[in-house]
Amino acid sequence: MLHKDIIVDGYERVLHIEHEESGLDAFIVIHNTKLGPAIGGIRCHTYENSETQLKDALRLSEGMTFKSAAAGINHGGAKTTINATKLKDRSLAFQLLGLEIEALDGLYICAGDVGTAVADLFKVKDATEYVAGITLDSSLPTALGTHTSIKTLLKRDGLKTKDQTFTVQGLGKVGKHLINMLDGKIEAYDPFVTDLDSVTHIEENKLLQGEFYVPCALGGVLNGFSLASIKSKYVCGSANNIFDTRNDIITAHDMGIKYVPDFITNCGGVLATALDFQNKDYKSALTTKLAKRINEILDISDAENIPAQHAAEQLANDRLK
Ligand code: NAD
Repeated sequence: MLHKDIIVDGYERVLHIEHEESGLDAFIVIHNTKLGPAIGGIRCHTYENSETQLKDALRLSEGMTFKSAAAGINHGGAKTTINATKLKDRSLAFQLLGLEIEALDGLYICAGDVGTAVADLFKVKDATEYVAGITLDSSLPTALGTHTSIKTLLKRDGLKTKDQTFTVQGLGKVGKHLINMLDGKIEAYDPFVTDLDSVTHIEENKLLQGEFYVPCALGGVLNGFSLASIKSKYVCGSANNIFDTRNDIITAHDMGIKYVPDFITNCGGVLATALDFQNKDYKSALTTKLAKRINEILDISDAENIPAQHAAEQLANDRLK
């Protein structure tokens, strides 16, 4: 087994592990453990080279630190990336990875991510106890956190979900759970889901015309183009990185669009994983406690007249100081 510690500025631990027989080629990146053990998924993906594989782990682990800090979760961020093209003996590779994680002695709690199956995580678990959420369907807690975000946003304006019409983009895993939780009227667009009885299916060009837009498909939906035509007063959905650029955050704020920052809205997966590790249920954390955090962020945004995104970033940076 080849085992290399790499020094990267701003990161606590970066490990490169290679094992000839199994074909394991993995980077374990622990970005920050100031708030607690770092949590992060194992991404098994086809990487062109080690540089892009390392970059992905660095970027994603930092994002995890930030998300937990902003959402008030007492964990840091980490990530593992495995180059799927090199794997020869998958089961052995995941077991060896488990041994490496065990050797970190609780600094890092791993979980599933894109390209990793439940069977892979059980192999990791053969070698370490530091695995969480193996059988957790993260889309359900993500939808619950999104539901809480929507409710909290409306409650601040004295409104109730049951009186609203929600325009949902994307009826995938999260979108489907979410529409079952929302008690208002639902109109939705998804190019591949067009037959749900509880929903009025609309055309794509109507997505930004309703009062409450719920993006649950793609990132970058609030951009120069969409902001020029959007009619929605509220935007809140599970999609990651809803703003295309930093400028779009300012534009949306100046336009008076009300939203909960996406990394707060969709913190349900990481929060549920953290609680799964402690054998705890996530319901109250993703309802009452999350609503309190959201109000804290939106209060700062209102009091200082700054975008909600900036208020959440400010809170996260304060916790990480
Ligand atoms: P998914 O792949 O299950 O569903 C996405 C849906 O969006 C699909 O049904 C797809 O047909 C649809 N879609 C694709 N392009 C579209 C378009 N242009 N307009 C409308 N619909 C379109 O994904 P998911 O797990 O439901 O996640 C939804 C969003 O939430 C993603 O942005 C994801 O990054 C984010 N998110 C998910 C989780 C989770 O635990 N699943 C956690 C955090 C964030």
